Amino acid sequence: MSPRGWALLALAGLALALVVTTALLIPWNRPPAPRADQLAALRALPADQVAHGREFRAALRPGGYASIAVGLLIALALGLTPLGSRLIELAGRPFGGHWIAQAVLGGLAVVLIADLVTLPFSAWRQAVLTRYGLSTNGWGGWVIDLLKSYAVSAVVGAVALLGFYAVIRLAPRWWWAFGAAGAAGLVVLLSFVLPVLVEPVFNRFTPMEQGPLRTELIALAARDGVPVRDVLVADASRRTRAVNAYVSGIGPTRRVVVYDTLLREAPPEEVTAVVAHELGHARDRDVTVGTLTGALGAAAAVVALYLIGSWAPLLRLAGVDSVAQPRAFPLLVALVTVVGLVATPIQALISRRVEARADAHALALTEDPAAFESMQRRLATVNLADPDPPRWEYLYSATHPSTVERMAAARAYAREAGR
Ligand SMILES: [Zn+2]
Repeated sequence: MSPRGWALLALAGLALALVVTTALLIPWNRPPAPRADQLAALRALPADQVAHGREFRAALRPGGYASIAVGLLIALALGLTPLGSRLIELAGRPFGGHWIAQAVLGGLAVVLIADLVTLPFSAWRQAVLTRYGLSTNGWGGWVIDLLKSYAVSAVVGAVALLGFYAVIRLAPRWWWAFGAAGAAGLVVLLSFVLPVLVEPVFNRFTPMEQGPLRTELIALAARDGVPVRDVLVADASRRTRAVNAYVSGIGPTRRVVVYDTLLREAPPEEVTAVVAHELGHARDRDVTVGTLTGALGAAAAVVALYLIGSWAPLLRLAGVDSVAQPRAFPLLVALVTVVGLVATPIQALISRRVEARADAHALALTEDPAAFESMQRRLATVNLADPDPPRWEYLYSATHPSTVERMAAARAYAREAGR
């Protein structure tokens, strides 16, 4: 069988593994709370707060979707015309067209251009956040964050580009197999190292100070059977007023992180409700499952890129002979961008199901639906959420159930528990 035949077989196998894993590990049969309960929850919210949240989301929308559209257009313009391959050549020219210069400098140049054309929209977003009082870091802090994230992506990108094209040179016929394994490995590695190496670039993390709340949270985790060595507080207040908490890392790098804004804004029982939700993620191994499906998806993507990218009409459009050349990198970026847009609603749906399960876990663990509901109301108020967003936007990109869905879930729990 030819390498192409093996690639087709591998792609079928990876796709099957992905379907089986998501079918078995994602809590699909978790329907949202009844719409009547959601509407009752919506009526319970102050009308001016709902209007304010909707106004804020409407102000963000044009820039957000324009950014997606312009990003797609530039990716297609560079990838499906000879423009991108010429750019790669240009970046390699000072180094005699050496493949390393083409691969790393050319590759980073393509990514940087895509970042730069969407930069005005990021600035727009920051302006809206500032106008609505949600951003606290000012333009100086915004620029510093931007430069830091460019630096992190340049380092990760350079390593990935160098590794990818080195493998292609070492194994010209089977690079896609090594590339797929490498991409999967990279996803797993990043899951371990991101919280330890990258998150500290943006925030400072300190153990939560000793006191009744910390004792209560550690006890809650112990009761839940989730070993948590520490609860960390992130100094999120340096750039935002938004409140949040999350769990990241796997095994020894697993941690529960609470924003300092949350501790400042919310009473202890609401912080407990938030942490109980995060413990739900830890208990159901959501980070591990996310890493596993991410690794399978990355491997499948590399094989698919090899197969689709070798399609002669596409190569002709891009003005290259083979998908394995550094000059074909813009074509790969164009394909990845399109796939990413198609995958967004699927990832959002999976995320909403997983988040709803973590909510149910928090309710069962704390047995305090009142605190859970007031926490949801606070989250919506402080983060200027639209508590009941437009259906199409919700289906396309919402990673969490809406505020009214989460409030309705708490009310349904209270009804069933007779509280
Ligand atoms: Zn969550």
